[in-house]
Amino acid sequence: SPPPTRRPSHPASARSRRLVFSSSSSSSSSTEPWKPGSWRLKPIHQQPEYPDREALSQVERRLARMPPLIYPGETRKLLQRLEAVGRGEAFLLQGGDCAETFADFSPQKVHSTFCTLIGQAIALALASGLPIVKIGRIAGQFAKPRSLPHDASGLPSYRGDIVHSAEPNAQARVPDPERLIKAYSQSAAAMNLIRALAKSTSSMMDWLQQMEMLLRRHGALDTPFGARMHQFMEEVEDSLRFVHACGIDENSGSFTEPEFYTSHEALLLNYEEALTHRFVRNMPIWEEEEEEVQLAAASHGSAADASGTYFATSAHFMWIGERTRQLDAAHVEFLRGIANPVGIKASAKMTPQELLTLLDAVNPQNALGRVTLITRMGADGIGRALPPLMRAVQQYGRQVVWSCDPMHGNTESVTTASGRTYKTRYVDGVLREVRTFFDVAHAEGCIAGGLHLEMTGEAVTECVGGLVGVDVNDLDQRYRSACDPRLNQAQALEVAFAVGELLRA
Ligand code: PEP
Ligand code: MN
Repeated sequence: SPPPTRRPSHPASARSRRLVFSSSSSSSSSTEPWKPGSWRLKPIHQQPEYPDREALSQVERRLARMPPLIYPGETRKLLQRLEAVGRGEAFLLQGGDCAETFADFSPQKVHSTFCTLIGQAIALALASGLPIVKIGRIAGQFAKPRSLPHDASGLPSYRGDIVHSAEPNAQARVPDPERLIKAYSQSAAAMNLIRALAKSTSSMMDWLQQMEMLLRRHGALDTPFGARMHQFMEEVEDSLRFVHACGIDENSGSFTEPEFYTSHEALLLNYEEALTHRFVRNMPIWEEEEEEVQLAAASHGSAADASGTYFATSAHFMWIGERTRQLDAAHVEFLRGIANPVGIKASAKMTPQELLTLLDAVNPQNALGRVTLITRMGADGIGRALPPLMRAVQQYGRQVVWSCDPMHGNTESVTTASGRTYKTRYVDGVLREVRTFFDVAHAEGCIAGGLHLEMTGEAVTECVGGLVGVDVNDLDQRYRSACDPRLNQAQALEVAFAVGELLRA
């Protein structure tokens, strides 16, 4: 039987209306030939200043010869999955660290994040009856944009471990190109573990039991959250019993071998360019093979076969941030040429015209699944800022997947009793933004397609609230994020339960 579909309450009104925001107004970006390095001709924001450009070039050349971390066959499948999300036939869950680091890397950390995302996906699927498309902010989420070039102590702001060390001294903050290689190696190791994990669990309950074990170890089951978790486990067991009674093997299918994708912000373009390759079908064309490929194509009379398609191979999905989405600048230029599905972050400052012009540049074919718009407007901003964007997209017949990041618009600074100050987020604010996202999407006849979270599988105390009961003074205990505050494992599941309820509604 066909999957359940969430139809918009009224369909996009004008699929065929002539697009008025095409590139003539300001950008030349969609008309000039694209190359993996054409971003270098554009103004660029949020970049480190490397003292030794030659050392950087050498690293780029080394990286360009490393194995791709992902292959286009997988990426194309993700495009199809996201197309289903855009039609309301699946739901997108994207989550992980704000910033991965070299020091915090461990198999336990990858395992617990993976496990938590699977648990959240099971909760969402159980409530909605929809397949859940799972994308980690993992295996490459190293580069960070910053609001200010300098931090409070006057040092250059920390821009992620792929650039330099977070240590608070001037020497540590000097960008070091060797870190690109280290980021690649750690991503490869994480990716390898993720692929193994996805293949190695024998039943759906197994995932949940692993997750329960972690929650027990973290003490989360001794809080009111424990009762909610227990109820969830029983619901899943009941459903599996029913499935089994119907004669279906409950231990086969997508939760036993979950389909899992990776993502990160495409910020450090020197790294992304080096790992972007031209593929003909699923076959990469390395520079030294160029001539043979051209000759073979010519002898078969097919130039199209030789031209191929560029894929970024550092991750399946990549997004550009709120600070690097300027139309005529480098990051949009890079994004427009890769065939991967891409995301664009949008704060309450984004105007409908900006959005339509960006969509023109990045998705001239208007293909559904190609662009996910990740709104991060804040619980107080979204009700005002989202409707005009959704209306513009509807009015001009544009195809986007709408996803909600309820983290980045809800960051506040708090001081604990000990006098220390932290960046935090309240679970209540996170939930309020997601609810408004669903309300607005419903009112505008759009599909609320996904959720984008900063979260971890560990028992950190970085966000306040939730059934586990993290309060402001608990921030002193286990605040470990290298950058923004993450939901801990129990909070992440709680948010998934709540979003499940919204999908059920
Ligand atoms: C992020 O996702 O960590 C981030 C920096 O987001 P934004 O660009 O939306 O601020
Ligand atoms: Mn962040």
